Amino acid sequence: MRSDFLHSPIDYLKGITPSRAALIKKELGIFTARDMLHFFPYRYLDRTEYLKINQLQNTNVEVQIIGKITHLKVVGQQRGKRLVATFTDDTGTMELVWFRGIKWIHDSLKINTPYVIFGKTTFFNGVFSMPHPEMELLEKHKSSLRSAMQPMYRSTEKLNSGGVTNRVISTCIQHIFETIQGRIAETLSSEMLQNLKLPSKPDALFNIHFPQSQAHLVRAQYRLKFEELFYIQLQLVRKNKIHKSKIKGYQFEKIGNYFHDFYNHHLPFELTEAQKRVVKEIRNDLGSNAQMNRLLQGDVGSGKTIVAFLSMLIALGNNFQACLMAPTEILATQHYHGLSEWAEKIGISIKLLTGSTKTSERKIIHEALEDGSLQILVGTHAILEDKVQFKNLGLAIVDEQHRFGVEQRSKLWLKNKFPPHILVMTATPIPRTLAMSVYGDLDISVIDELPPGRKSIQTMHRYDSHRLQLFYFMREEIKKGRQVYVVYPLIEESEKMDYKDLEDGYHSIVREFPLPDCQVSIVHGKMKSADKEYEMNRFVKGETQIMVATTVIEVGVNVPNATVMVIESAERFGLSQLHQLRGRVGRGADQSYCILMTGHKLSNDAKIRMQTMVRTTDGFEIAEVDLKLRGPGDLMGTQQSGVLNLRIADIVKDTEILKLARNYAFAILNEDPALESEKNIPIRRTFENLVKRREIWEYIS
Ligand code: ADP
Ligand code: MG
Repeated sequence: MRSDFLHSPIDYLKGITPSRAALIKKELGIFTARDMLHFFPYRYLDRTEYLKINQLQNTNVEVQIIGKITHLKVVGQQRGKRLVATFTDDTGTMELVWFRGIKWIHDSLKINTPYVIFGKTTFFNGVFSMPHPEMELLEKHKSSLRSAMQPMYRSTEKLNSGGVTNRVISTCIQHIFETIQGRIAETLSSEMLQNLKLPSKPDALFNIHFPQSQAHLVRAQYRLKFEELFYIQLQLVRKNKIHKSKIKGYQFEKIGNYFHDFYNHHLPFELTEAQKRVVKEIRNDLGSNAQMNRLLQGDVGSGKTIVAFLSMLIALGNNFQACLMAPTEILATQHYHGLSEWAEKIGISIKLLTGSTKTSERKIIHEALEDGSLQILVGTHAILEDKVQFKNLGLAIVDEQHRFGVEQRSKLWLKNKFPPHILVMTATPIPRTLAMSVYGDLDISVIDELPPGRKSIQTMHRYDSHRLQLFYFMREEIKKGRQVYVVYPLIEESEKMDYKDLEDGYHSIVREFPLPDCQVSIVHGKMKSADKEYEMNRFVKGETQIMVATTVIEVGVNVPNATVMVIESAERFGLSQLHQLRGRVGRGADQSYCILMTGHKLSNDAKIRMQTMVRTTDGFEIAEVDLKLRGPGDLMGTQQSGVLNLRIADIVKDTEILKLARNYAFAILNEDPALESEKNIPIRRTFENLVKRREIWEYIS
């Protein structure tokens, strides 16, 4: 009977008429009694507090008042028709208003009888009024349980006007509890309940809807958050484990001579501890017979490239090929030049393939890839073209992951018998907690240490009105032989305006920094790719001192002699973009600066962004602030927002619980991969149910 009842449609629940049922299904996606039980209040109101009418001050907040109706009248015509009641207590008078159900309400209201009214107030024509209040006779109200924590459920305009009030929901849930009498199956193992001192499932559900005390509520919330995060992690960890056991990859049995030779004789610098650790993690993956799927996070300048190169050497040492894919031609080219220098030292063949590679060169590359004589291919999306066939691609590295979709990643798989090992590198620091939930099925490595000797970049926020000082500062740096970036925002919708800003800016800089002392480069998205390349190269070679650009230089470009990054209209950039841009300087031995130029009027968000940039250069800290400002959905792109569609847990605030849940998921699956043991029965049953109801798949699809 119990399970039948919980699975019965809401249509049969107390207070739910057919039209209300339809509304609830449509607006809230609640179909069964069980769904209803899992519709949690979003906050709690103190219903032990009553206001007097003369205490009313603010509008649009819920209040509770005791008083009597002295008059009732219907006013207005047709659509403007409404029922207005005059409501008084010993301190004053207000109005209650109904626009719908006028006749029925009119007939059911009692005059001069004490009522408790509850609802949001408005202020109109000099009087406070309350549209569609919840009404209860004082006598009845006294006998019912009042709590200082009355649950408030999320509602919509349509629900309200359809009569699905907070009380309807609450009464319905109360009815469910009365019917099931605590017979709700436990969804966690008793071992977990004991270890973590969690309340039982029935206890937690009851207290989330009808808290017996603040302490009960906190415990209930904790348990339900833990449970929610635990099952997501269980799913992700399981997927990761299945992947490892099922998806075979090439097993690179040895490190190989290339690696040893390079590591022992040609390493350009000593690796940081973090780099060493990550190389070890990758080496372990490559040595197992499962396909590697690893995300490498490392702040700009943390030295991901050498890690990528060393990983490629392992593939090469086992007679496999490797490729490195970058999101833009400039970046791919720069990678190619950097890697070629290293490759040359140990006699490795390496080529570059981009959209502008000539047909004749392409042919050579295709052939060399197919016969295996070409060992490393660096390039853009061009690598993914069907014509590009490897003899035996063993490792594919993708730089700046956020520009590539999963689809493109899987395209690489089609290129051979086994999928190649995949290493995705990103400089967009994703807060660890978020990465755990979104990429929980990938393994994650983090380079959390910058190479030694880096001077931290000094960041300043200046207003447009201080431009003369800015020019003075730039001149001083240029005199020292340094180079300067000046970046303008470019947002497509307002392209015209942006180009005007950019051009005006360029002209004023050319005026301020005249030839022959100073050469100014300009690079923007509308230029031909060859022209862009030419201008970029002039700056890279130090022939120009100032680079005026749009955000095309955002990713990856490396000019160690550039020490000043000026960001114009900085308020228009997001935090992660600002951080990326700032990462273009501070790459050499000299003190570098980042100057954020803004107007005087700034939104609160913009102020926080500027303050954060000035305060810290830690990419992870910045990412956390970004997450708080923008919310997870926005940060990760909409297609992933399903992951974050949480019922009760908060990905930003509940990181400790998330970590705990993840640890438990790992521990349980390590000990009992198929969840077969007696004690894990509740876990397996719950997990299977979640999958059956597709609640978990939503998280990962
Ligand atoms: P990113 O992680 O942003 O791709 P890079 O790999 O481009 O960073 O490295 C940034 C700069 O730091 C490069 O000039 C690189 O040669 C240098 N570098 C990387 N690792 C070290 C290290 N361990 N010691 C000194 N310099 C390093
Ligand atoms: Mg890089």
